[in-house]
Amino acid sequence: MEVESKTTRQKPLIVREYVIKSKLGGGCFSTVWKAQHIVNGDQVVAVKQVHLSRLNRHLRTCLDCELNFLSSVNHPNIVRLFHVFRDKDCIFLVLEYCSGGNLASYISQHGRVQEQIARRFMQQLGAGLEILHSHHIIHRDLKPENILLSGTEEDPVLKIADFGLSRSVNPGEYAETVCGSPLYMAPEVLGFQSYDEKVDMWSLGAILFELLNGYPPFRGRNNVQVLKNIKSSTRLPFSKVILPGLNPDCVDMCLKLLSLNPGWVDRLYGFHLFSW
Ligand code: ATP
Ligand code: MG
Repeated sequence: MEVESKTTRQKPLIVREYVIKSKLGGGCFSTVWKAQHIVNGDQVVAVKQVHLSRLNRHLRTCLDCELNFLSSVNHPNIVRLFHVFRDKDCIFLVLEYCSGGNLASYISQHGRVQEQIARRFMQQLGAGLEILHSHHIIHRDLKPENILLSGTEEDPVLKIADFGLSRSVNPGEYAETVCGSPLYMAPEVLGFQSYDEKVDMWSLGAILFELLNGYPPFRGRNNVQVLKNIKSSTRLPFSKVILPGLNPDCVDMCLKLLSLNPGWVDRLYGFHLFSW
């Protein structure tokens, strides 16, 4: 089973019982399609086509285990994985369709958001992460492009997406590819050190910072530059316009989540602030 080749303009592309409608996104390892159930047209899903040739055999096995687990997760802040189809070249993940697009587009449309909205978003992401971490799943590449929006535009529900794959790839290879932005990656991932789930706490801190300020805390064209900027920074570059209006606990949360090694305890402590 595969995305059927386009022989005529009229012939629909089919993956099992889903008709492919349009492309939603794609990166180095995959292409994501919007699709509709052949019989029940109301059932709209996203089909993620993962190109296996880009993962080695060991990594495919890891991916299999993780996908098996993820198909059993049903949490409002984690994108649902309904089915997994395999063929010799690809894995197709049939996912819950999120009509609100990704958080990167949301931020570029809305700019920085009110503190109350940032808090609500953090609570949702924290709730999703807590589930992943309680099952020892580390995302490792949490960033606005990998967070999807569902629900209404006024009150969106955030969903963590694109997990599993990032961890299945050698950290060095991943950070050095042009696939992803390193702006939200923890210093220990950028520096190819061993890491644990606290790397996701760092990414949450970077996302919270960007939601509040409208720009990310550390910049750089590649992982080496971002890491250099993280290590040389003496304070977080909060916007002078918004800083006076922020609640101290919100600033504190950014500081804790974005704490460098040996600030491990701080990042975990930051996590507990999700009960704000
Ligand atoms: P990889 O880097 O592993 O190749 P990727 O980054 O291309 O993966 P995703 O992050 O899962 O793959 O998806 C890319 C984009 O496609 C998302 O940023 C989002 O815009 C869109 N997308 C993905 N999944 C969905 C979904 N379930 N509903 C709606 N849009 C989605
Ligand atoms: Mg992605």
